[in-house]
Amino acid sequence: MKNGKAKLALVAGGAGFLGSHLCDRLLAEGMEVLCLDNLQTGRMENLRHLERDSRFNFVQADISEPLPAALSASRIRPTRIFNLACAASPPHYQADPEHTMLTSVLGTRSLLRLAEATGARFLQASTSEIYGDPEMHPQREDYWGNVNPTGPRACYDEGKRAAETLTFDFGRARRAEVRVVRIFNTYGPRMRADDGRVVSNVINQALADEDITIYGDGSQTRSFCYVDDLIEGIFRLMSLDATPPGAVNIGNPVELTVSDLVEKVLAMTGSRSRLVRCPLPVDDPRRRRPDITRARELLGWSPRVALAEGLKSTIAWFEQDMARPHRAAAP
Ligand code: NAD
Ligand code: UDP
Repeated sequence: MKNGKAKLALVAGGAGFLGSHLCDRLLAEGMEVLCLDNLQTGRMENLRHLERDSRFNFVQADISEPLPAALSASRIRPTRIFNLACAASPPHYQADPEHTMLTSVLGTRSLLRLAEATGARFLQASTSEIYGDPEMHPQREDYWGNVNPTGPRACYDEGKRAAETLTFDFGRARRAEVRVVRIFNTYGPRMRADDGRVVSNVINQALADEDITIYGDGSQTRSFCYVDDLIEGIFRLMSLDATPPGAVNIGNPVELTVSDLVEKVLAMTGSRSRLVRCPLPVDDPRRRRPDITRARELLGWSPRVALAEGLKSTIAWFEQDMARPHRAAAP
């Protein structure tokens, strides 16, 4: 790893959907990037186009285990650490709940300690899931949430809450300069077709004329943010020199029901798929919409990509993805 003039960003979870877009953005901004990923849900395919870029390096590592020696011995010294490592889709994070929890707790602690040792600025990717099934609508950052601590989603929700706690404790004690972004449902190219989330499921089902799986009656709501908008928000948050007053929501406040989303995708794909009702997953939040006042005021950020535009490019990407070799052999 060169670690000369260009600043070095460590991106944990950089082979994943959001992480790979973040790697692209940081390289475009002139940084060197070291990506750390255990490839649990991430794919080398997402990074293939960076193989020949001498400013990019990949290390396969699990952040819930001790960090690679070159990092823990501070021989490699990042100036920015982005922690995006954690499976984000309910079926994937529930497959090994113990690992999900430890990724958020032990993994975040290791990376915070690395930030402390190197002086790197640290960003934790948190989630709207920390609000649980919210009683406050839309969700502002000062809402403490309504999370079931013992249900099947808890390994993720409570893990992320604990990761936030650790991050703010390091910040308060001035052990590291920290940022926390609360990401609301984000979609776009490089999502896995087998990810299990609603946007990827519905688009892939529609493209294959397969049954569209609607969990529950489809009246639950989400607010979907296009990946480019999300990455812009993360980049601005990490570029801010003044320490923010707390976590920052990044998401698109346009709220719609799952049924509305399905209707839009069916219309855009001209699909002949039928709708089938499946059981609503346990503790599935009824509604979710970010209040983005803080992001607007602090970062001058608001989303630019409308749902129709974002869905169009995501559908086009999945159409091409169907022909790619990894669809036959994951990861
Ligand atoms: P993703 O599953 O595509 O990416 C997660 C990445 O982390 C994968 O590459 C995976 O292999 C890696 N990973 C998981 N556990 C790891 C470990 N212990 N050590 C090293 N690498 C590990 O999901 P994503 O949508 O890109 O999400 C990225 C981050 O953003 C996650 O932390 C997630 O919680 C957060 N987030 C995403 C969304 C969203 O809508 N996409 C919403 C809220 C929060
Ligand atoms: N959902 C659905 N069909 C699917 C996948 C998900 O109806 O094939 C629903 C799910 O129950 C939830 C919403 O869509 O109410 C968003 O689910 P996703 O897993 O994308 O995100 P999250 O629940 O983590 O917000």
